[in-house]
Amino acid sequence: MEAAFKVLPLAFPKGKEQFCEICQREANLQCTKCRVTFYCDSEHQQADWVGIHERICQMLVPIRTPSLKQSRRKEKQLMKVKAELIEICRNTAQSKLSQGKHFEALPAAQFCLRCCIDVHGPNTIQLVPAYLLLAETNMGLGNLALVADLLSQAEWAILKSPECDRSLRQRLHRSLGRLHTATGNLEAALFHFANDIYYASEEFGVDSTVVCYGYFLMADAFIKQGKMAIVHSLYTEVAFTWHRHLTKLLETHLQSIRNPAMLDSSFDYSQPSEVDEMFRVILEFEQKSSRRGSSLIAHVAHCLSMLWFVRGDPLKVFGFGTTALKASQLTPEHDLAEPIQGLLQLVQDPQAHPRSGPS
Ligand SMILES: [Zn+2]
Ligand SMILES: [Zn+2]
Repeated sequence: MEAAFKVLPLAFPKGKEQFCEICQREANLQCTKCRVTFYCDSEHQQADWVGIHERICQMLVPIRTPSLKQSRRKEKQLMKVKAELIEICRNTAQSKLSQGKHFEALPAAQFCLRCCIDVHGPNTIQLVPAYLLLAETNMGLGNLALVADLLSQAEWAILKSPECDRSLRQRLHRSLGRLHTATGNLEAALFHFANDIYYASEEFGVDSTVVCYGYFLMADAFIKQGKMAIVHSLYTEVAFTWHRHLTKLLETHLQSIRNPAMLDSSFDYSQPSEVDEMFRVILEFEQKSSRRGSSLIAHVAHCLSMLWFVRGDPLKVFGFGTTALKASQLTPEHDLAEPIQGLLQLVQDPQAHPRSGPS
């Protein structure tokens, strides 16, 4: 990486010390491309470059270059750039998080919050999405004290804004639930997940996948309390709801294969890795449990099989499909056997071979 060269701290005029973009310690390096961004060492320079700086390096030049004339037009232009920066940082952090790259998401999430504070001022409701994003990033890194601090700031901002929308409240409760699960405060976790599910049902509908994920997280707290019967019933709710969604999705997908003009654009192919992680956790839980609910195993394995069909991985379709078929034959109704067999045939038929979605 030749993006930075060494500058001695003494090279700065007195009172004009520069600080590291990542850790705010005294800087020794400067980005040679924009010359307005500084780092304590090459490790932080590299982390910032990969995390976000590569995308925004040149956008920072007008923002960080002091100008003598401050016209209204210039001010307006700068605000526009800052709004764009917030958007880029948010999307970048979010996409890295959905790939499970928490460490790489950190610079973008951090800068997103700094930009929001700059634009909207401290302690405003507009900062909440940025607080939640940075909290989620730190949750993945295990920095729980920092997560608690960020969430309490988000909570305070929401408390002061009665007009705050439901989806924001839902996300706050979900994050608080995860934090309390991680710290072992299970009663508080369950309280927040109940609120999460309430707001998610109001906002997205009771059978939405957002509500499902709330149940899934709630089950995690119940596992820690040893309440396995409740876990089983929550997992059943999650699996059956997703099964209905994926059955519909598969139908649309097959229509679009037969008729490419109807290409299914409603499905987000880059869906967070958390969805299949969730199915795997449920499948493993039920396979290990003494009750081994065949119906639940059949539904979850069928879900995974359908998901991988749409994503275009025939081997996984076959593996999970076979598991689903075996389990469904143990249920009294055998009602899934037919659609599963249909899927297994499709995956072996080159005419209907799954194609991977647009990346
Ligand atoms: Zn640093
Ligand atoms: Zn730069």
